[in-house]
Amino acid sequence: MQPGLLYAHPLFARHEVPRGHPEHAGRVAAVMQALQPLVDSGHLDMRTPTAADDDLLLLVHQRAHVDAIKGHAPAGGLVALDGDTFMGPNSLAAARHAAGAVVDAVDAVMSGEALRAFCAVRPPGHHAEPHRAMGFCLFSNVAIGARHARQRWGLKRVAVVDFDVHHGNGTQRVAESDPGILCASIHQSPLWPGTGAADETGPAGNVVNVPVAPGTEGAQWRAMVTTDLLPALAAFEPELILVSAGFDAHRDDPLAGLGLVEADYDWITRRLVAQARRTAGGRVVSSLEGGYDVQALGRCAFVHVHALLDG
Ligand SMILES: [Zn+2]
Repeated sequence: MQPGLLYAHPLFARHEVPRGHPEHAGRVAAVMQALQPLVDSGHLDMRTPTAADDDLLLLVHQRAHVDAIKGHAPAGGLVALDGDTFMGPNSLAAARHAAGAVVDAVDAVMSGEALRAFCAVRPPGHHAEPHRAMGFCLFSNVAIGARHARQRWGLKRVAVVDFDVHHGNGTQRVAESDPGILCASIHQSPLWPGTGAADETGPAGNVVNVPVAPGTEGAQWRAMVTTDLLPALAAFEPELILVSAGFDAHRDDPLAGLGLVEADYDWITRRLVAQARRTAGGRVVSSLEGGYDVQALGRCAFVHVHALLDG
């Protein structure tokens, strides 16, 4: 195994949500506990991310959205941005560091510090659209990293692969206006947010959606990744691969109805690393999205990160 980077920050456990909310601080605690053996063995080097400033957020988000999130941040208590999405006193700082983690990880792999990085962040990002927060997400962390890679490092083709069980609608919105970003999402359908049909390909054809039916298990899911996602990823010839790593397609997850197991996350991670080796200099940056059964989440995150380092 080669060494990789782990971006973590105490703020990720301090982003406040109402009691009983599925996207709670225990999620990152479980992930960090699961990854600790890789830190202890020297395979993962822990890094503290910086906060994304407004200029970075504006690579994806409209000024009005950034100002609204700043304006909503409460001095105490919670505010609801929609029925699912909340902010407490630490949420703005946590969200800035979540986006900043992906940006810092992109800089680290592009500068050759490491080939692989994982960002153990919350709040997640892939549902946040340019103009609004949505679905537990305040800023579109991975899309900001992709836009940053395009602008700061001059990359012509950055791929985002999203295997969270929910469609990555926010990332897709960004790809629809930047043909240098491939957005490839495999997700359950029907399921919230309801977007991500196979015929949503974007004006430049750089959006790939692979909807899978409720009840789908690993063998069929892998077959669809193999026929519908990986060829499009290979054809795009990405110079960098970013991963929206949600683990809520696991069979134990309470928010969805797919039947993946840990080995399926090992499998897809190795496929993505293999593609990165062919066209992207081996560079992969992965960032946590969903995953709401904390035991399964920890196990899946370990398998995913282990495969990132081992592939
Ligand atoms: Zn999800």
